[in-house]
Amino acid sequence: MYDLIVIGGGPGGYLAAERAARAGLNTLLFEKNALGGVCLNEGCIPSKTLLQSAKTYDHALHAEKYGVLARKVSIDQGAVIARKNKVVRTLVAGVAAKLHHAGVTVVPKTAALAGRKEGFLVSDGQQSYEGKNIIIATGSSAVVPTIPGVAEHLGSFVLTNREILDLTQIPEKLAVIGGGVIGLEMAAYYATVGSRVTVIEMLPKIAGATDGEVSTFLQKELERKGVRFLLEHKCLSVEPGKVLAQGKDGVVEVAADKVLLSIGRRANTENLGLETVGVEFTKSGIPTDAMGRTNVPGIYAVGDVNGHHMLAHTAYREAEVAVNTILGKKDAMRYHANPSVIYTTPEVASVGKTEEECRQKGIDYEVAKLSMRYSGRFVAENEGGDGLCKVIIDKNRRTVLGVHLIGSYAGEIIWGAAEMLELQLRVTDARQIIFPHPTVSEIIRETLWEFSDT
Ligand code: FAD
Repeated sequence: MYDLIVIGGGPGGYLAAERAARAGLNTLLFEKNALGGVCLNEGCIPSKTLLQSAKTYDHALHAEKYGVLARKVSIDQGAVIARKNKVVRTLVAGVAAKLHHAGVTVVPKTAALAGRKEGFLVSDGQQSYEGKNIIIATGSSAVVPTIPGVAEHLGSFVLTNREILDLTQIPEKLAVIGGGVIGLEMAAYYATVGSRVTVIEMLPKIAGATDGEVSTFLQKELERKGVRFLLEHKCLSVEPGKVLAQGKDGVVEVAADKVLLSIGRRANTENLGLETVGVEFTKSGIPTDAMGRTNVPGIYAVGDVNGHHMLAHTAYREAEVAVNTILGKKDAMRYHANPSVIYTTPEVASVGKTEEECRQKGIDYEVAKLSMRYSGRFVAENEGGDGLCKVIIDKNRRTVLGVHLIGSYAGEIIWGAAEMLELQLRVTDARQIIFPHPTVSEIIRETLWEFSDT
């Protein structure tokens, strides 16, 4: 009998298995594809590797702004993808080594729950295993809508995140259906390397729940790079060469050599044998409490499959919380200080409440804003560029409720703002933090000084 069986070897699963084994639990991990899951193989890491190539290309193209003459700059998409594959291989091998070192037994097979004996039974189709505790970490998959033409051309003309990250030819025209984080990152990459990109979004704004002002800022920056946005447009059909979208003023035909589907992700709950042990699930995933516990004692669900945030760092923390709960240590998820990042150029990073959310919830709030141009390092490194820092505080308690950044390093510095939320710092407390100079992070400190508190 294993102390713990983990199903799924993505960020949630591999971290849970590693932490559990290091704490002395006899741990078994099933992974049907590659260790590292979506994040490492077809998500976070491959997309950021491509975006780094785009950034390097863009820097070289505009190097003369910095007194550097770079001639005959071009992009070799085959080499970009080859480098991405190398990065993925290196990191997947790192995960495998870490699990081995921690003493986790990895079974490279598809697993499903198969009822109970003394513990829970898990089957790989040939063999049965028994575990005292189960962590389900099966992740999520791209939603494939029932739009006419999508199913017929999936994988060739119509791509998901999986195929778009493997294109060795840059499409001349790319249509992106869905202006959320994944769609925007890919739009930014392909627009930078030369595609004519159109983003079709049903909502009146891009970037999902991102603060409205920041998302408008990002939209303008991406438009400057040539991305065209069709907001409040619904995709009607796709066929090789074109996409039809319905807007308020009629149907628009978007010419496209490739189409990226990025309208969302759904939790992987099928064929998991959940019914054999009575684990409840909905269309959004497997509901859990703050400790990652499902309705069945001893069975946990972490990462995308529980549908909470669908971010890798959330999966990591949920994995730690679930393992600590199994070990009898007091721990719980706190989602209010969970940062999110869009790795476009400029980069967007947010934590906590947006203005829209404050208004919707009737929170009495106050906002301070500063252009990134108030940061010395930002100006030194971004010739002609601009960005924004926006801090939202509770008007009465004077505590930090949200921080929203657009500009370089935003994703690297947002954790500091998350800490302000975690510690419920007041403006006057947060101002006492010493920020290194010159850094872009100082913009948060300067923005805090825009409030009238003495
Ligand atoms: P997954 O990573 O999906 O892993 C689940 C694993 O379980 C998979 O490897 C799967 O093969 C395996 N599995 C499923 N069923 C079974 C079974 N029955 N038996 C055995 N194995 C099984 N998040 C961020 O935080 N930052 C980013 O920058 C970011 N960028 C992204 C970019 C893209 C293009 C995409 C698609 C996603 C991105 N994400 C990002 C989201 C991130 O990838 C996910 O939140 C994260 O991978 C979730 O981890 P997970 O462990 O829950 O699931």
